[in-house]
Amino acid sequence: MITLALSKGRIFDESLPLLKAAGIEIAEDSESSRRLILATTRPDVRVVLVRATDVPTYVQHGGADLGVAGLDVLLEHGGQGLYQPLDLRIAQCRMSVAVRADFDYAAAVKQGSRIRVATKYVSVARDHFADKGVHVDLIKLYGSMELAPLTGLADAIVDLVSTGSTLAANRLVEVERIMDISSRLVVNQAALKLKQQPIRRIIEAFESALPGLPA
Ligand code: ADP
Ligand code: MG
Repeated sequence: MITLALSKGRIFDESLPLLKAAGIEIAEDSESSRRLILATTRPDVRVVLVRATDVPTYVQHGGADLGVAGLDVLLEHGGQGLYQPLDLRIAQCRMSVAVRADFDYAAAVKQGSRIRVATKYVSVARDHFADKGVHVDLIKLYGSMELAPLTGLADAIVDLVSTGSTLAANRLVEVERIMDISSRLVVNQAALKLKQQPIRRIIEAFESALPGLPA
């Protein structure tokens, strides 16, 4: 049996065409079902549904053999014990710094200054501001980051942005783009050795189903 960990939402939805290319289709209606283990059209493959941030943990410790996780989540996790053979180029967005429209970010990040940054991505944020020589007080949040600058909790946030409409709706502006984000295939290193043939086949099928790289 091969167990693949996915998270509900965009990663699940955008993984379906890749799974199909590997001959794997979910055998039950995942929307209506409350089940967390889903059978597939391949008797030797099942899908487990976990929180996006838990995918690397499941795969690292062998609760799943493979998984699909955002680079944002992988960077915070650290990637220990994970083989990362493929950028699946799904769930694409970027990690950015955003502030209130009336906040002078350029002045605030001058060398030697100190700013308060709220984020779910403390590791990425710490590295980013350390590279710039900016002192930060990091405030760890688990959601609704946009609220932090509006309430005075923080001067800035580090968050994922795709269209920018959530930022705009909250009168925040993107002032710096830290990195591009997409989802990666992650594989448990021991499983790769023990179940080498079926796992290699799945990796190859995913790879051949990837949309072409933009020129
Ligand atoms: P959750 O809210 O439970 O973290 P999401 O579906 O919002 O779940 O996020 C799962 C993953 O999808 C993230 O880890 C990230 O890699 C990616 N992602 C998050 N927000 C966006 C977005 N706005 N556009 C594209 N991909 C995103
Ligand atoms: Mg979300």
